[in-house]
Amino acid sequence: AKYVYDFTEGNRNLKDLLGGKGANLAEMTNLGLPVPHGFTITTEACRHYLAEGSVPSGLDQEVAEHLEALEAKMGRKLGQADDPLLVSVRSGAKFSMPGMMETVLNIGLNDESVHGLAKQSGGNDRFAWDSYRRLIQMFGKTVLGIDGDLFERALDDLKGRRHDTDLDSGELQQLVETYKGIVRDQTGKDFPADPREQMRLAVMAVFDSWNAPRAILYRRQERIPADLGTAVNIMAMVFGNYGNDSGTGVAFTRDPGSGQQGIYGDYLQNAQGEDVVAGIRNTIPLQDLEHLDKPSYDQLVDIMETLENHYRDLCDIEFTIERGKLWMLQTRVGKRTAAAAFCIATQLVDQGLITMDEAVTRVTGDQLAQLMFPRFDGGADKKKIAKGMNASPGAAVGKAVFSSERAVELAGQGEDVILVRRETNPDDLAGMIAARGILTSRGGKTSHAAVVARGMGKTCVCGAEDLDVQTAERRFTAPGGVVVSEGDVISIDGTSGEVYLGEVPVVDSAVVEYFEGATEPQDDLVKAVDRIMRHADAKRRLGVRANADTPEDAARARRFGAQGIGLCRTEHMFLGERRQLVEDLVLASSDEERQAALDALEPLQKSDFIGIFQAMQGAPVTIRLIDPPLHEFLPDIVDLSVKVATGAATDKDRKLLTAVKRLHEQNPMLGLRGVRLGLIIPGLFAMQVRAIAQAAAEVPGARPEIMIPLVAAVQELESVREEAVKILADAGVDALIGTMIEVPRAALTAAQIAEAAEFFSFGTNDLTQMAWGFSRDDVEAAFFSRYLDLGIFGVSPFETLDREGVGRLMEIAVREGRQARPDLHLGICGEHGGDPDSVHFCHDVGLDYVSCSPFRIPVARLEAGRAAL
Ligand code: ADP
Ligand code: MG
Ligand code: MG
Repeated sequence: AKYVYDFTEGNRNLKDLLGGKGANLAEMTNLGLPVPHGFTITTEACRHYLAEGSVPSGLDQEVAEHLEALEAKMGRKLGQADDPLLVSVRSGAKFSMPGMMETVLNIGLNDESVHGLAKQSGGNDRFAWDSYRRLIQMFGKTVLGIDGDLFERALDDLKGRRHDTDLDSGELQQLVETYKGIVRDQTGKDFPADPREQMRLAVMAVFDSWNAPRAILYRRQERIPADLGTAVNIMAMVFGNYGNDSGTGVAFTRDPGSGQQGIYGDYLQNAQGEDVVAGIRNTIPLQDLEHLDKPSYDQLVDIMETLENHYRDLCDIEFTIERGKLWMLQTRVGKRTAAAAFCIATQLVDQGLITMDEAVTRVTGDQLAQLMFPRFDGGADKKKIAKGMNASPGAAVGKAVFSSERAVELAGQGEDVILVRRETNPDDLAGMIAARGILTSRGGKTSHAAVVARGMGKTCVCGAEDLDVQTAERRFTAPGGVVVSEGDVISIDGTSGEVYLGEVPVVDSAVVEYFEGATEPQDDLVKAVDRIMRHADAKRRLGVRANADTPEDAARARRFGAQGIGLCRTEHMFLGERRQLVEDLVLASSDEERQAALDALEPLQKSDFIGIFQAMQGAPVTIRLIDPPLHEFLPDIVDLSVKVATGAATDKDRKLLTAVKRLHEQNPMLGLRGVRLGLIIPGLFAMQVRAIAQAAAEVPGARPEIMIPLVAAVQELESVREEAVKILADAGVDALIGTMIEVPRAALTAAQIAEAAEFFSFGTNDLTQMAWGFSRDDVEAAFFSRYLDLGIFGVSPFETLDREGVGRLMEIAVREGRQARPDLHLGICGEHGGDPDSVHFCHDVGLDYVSCSPFRIPVARLEAGRAAL
């Protein structure tokens, strides 16, 4: 195999092999942009190394050859004492994992070549020693595994209140000695002076960083597969830390927050690598570079346009200026907020760069869901205490916490928290995941906090510079003597950047108002959503229905675009005051008593159905007959037993207790419920079917579909069906009769079941439980996180449909069901119906519709459109 690619050999389609960074460096090289020379070691080499514990044979040789070629191009050798070539060794996986893995700069420096570098730079000793100390610091932390704080502290001790740029050459030389001492103390060995050894060790450290805990956590959060591995990019160094005519920066071709076109980014003079995002000094807005170095600025703006037109999307960029010469160090299609994603997609259509079809594929259901989150009520009383940058939108309310650990701890106790930090770094990831929102006092829109929060869709305000965050004291102060301590509630608005004391009430988002039909599309975002939704609707093959049990939910679902109800649960109709009637039903000791209870329930059910049929205005309504075990409607067994034991019980209580005991089940999920209940309690299903039929007879255009739950054998369905058909005929009402497919046996005998069913609806909550043999209520807390750790699944099968197992049962049922009855109508009504990935599966497997909760309907519509493209 070929394990190493020169930048001139790759291209952007090779992300699997070269990682995103490597593939795009190659792409930029081929576009003729100013990229330092370099080469990429493939992810395949990394996977081999991680699996076998050693690099594949031949890799060392290939790397050596590419290094020689690089040396030849550059006219100097790696670490050459009098005129050294320096390189960076950079991680870069297929999917961007900002700051999660490792990169080492300035490889090739040692006690000799540092003098060569000074000479090469025209006697810039300060620069040479600064580069050397950076190497030892990064190498020490990343490759040698030394606690990075040791280096940080030594640097802080030396510089006191000054900036790092204030250190002179002598001080930096002294710092190098201190750093070398730290390396010796911590590892018992000297800092490795051999440049090739440095490079070799750095490559393996980058490979290893794939499995760093924070990288693992990030992958899980972002659902990135655990077995991809990272590529390694080796690239000639260029220097932004040369002096004030040099610097380093990051840029976006559009505002990643709103999607607006323009020049967005941060620049830092006399700096290297991560300095910009790490917030060690305050950056300047990219526009100001125009005044510092106009030629470089103009060239950068030009390149940004080239990249946008080439990638036909928002790009983000890392660049460095070395003594007036611009270098491109990285680009990729940039992360953006949900709002920006919609706006950019339609802008690109208007610019003629992409089609509407592409625009629909450029946004996701998850992003749409984010736009449906509530926002702060504009009219509410608020005490604003600061304003920072609107780094990632949304409205978040919670208790202020000042460390990642506390955030995780309090969130674990069910508290909403806002993580407040001066700036975040990759070690804060767990806290950022646990928090409702993130607030920092330093850093711009490209800071770590901002980038990661946007990626996670989490509310973030950054760079609120008026706040003095005192992490150790667990508090921050704001102007006007405001002090916020750990546990005090604050509200942050990631859309405006504002920070408020106390809890600010929230209201519907503009996008929800639009779906509600309350507003015509006015602002750019709502207009963009409207265009994309219309196109998705026009393209999708899947129908979208709602799970709704009340006329209110049904009406909302309709406004949100539901084409019917895919699941109307009748058990909710037996709660509240009606519990009494259910008790009577259960306690009935004769046919007459039972019939009386059923007769009392029937008109109530009928009026429920009338309300829903009316709300749905002629759209189909799938009504599931009662499903859960009866004892769920009865009083708690312990409470009753206590009452009886203490003599406080009435006669009725005693009868109830007997009934509850009789109905008590070890494993109700697998007990007397669903169709089994209908077959055991005479008249129960008949009453429900009659209520449906009579309601339908009264509402013109009503289209009921009667759904029998938990069927495992066609015989169960047949006997219910026979009775139902008669009742419907008597009432002169047409209704489809079908079943849920939620027991594996039903899926496996779908051909038989289809003989008695006009439709199937996959009840994937139960089907998942029964296919895996675990109950959702019991397992999620008990062992799911361990299962995720072990990679048994990448995401809970209750969230995203398990294609391999549950999906296979569905495939069988679809195929064999349709063979037996070609016009069999097929849907899904488990919670998966609103999950983006599961919607795509439902499209692929050929269902007719998905059904989900009203709020997920727009998401399902969009994803169904994307699935069809
Ligand atoms: P990450 O994936 O965390 O962004 P990078 O590999 O991009 O890590 O590198 C970290 C920083 O070092 C970035 O700012 C990058 O631009 C800079 N850098 C990487 N290689 C070089 C190089 N050869 N010359 C100058 N700066 C570099
Ligand atoms: Mg980078
Ligand atoms: Mg079920």
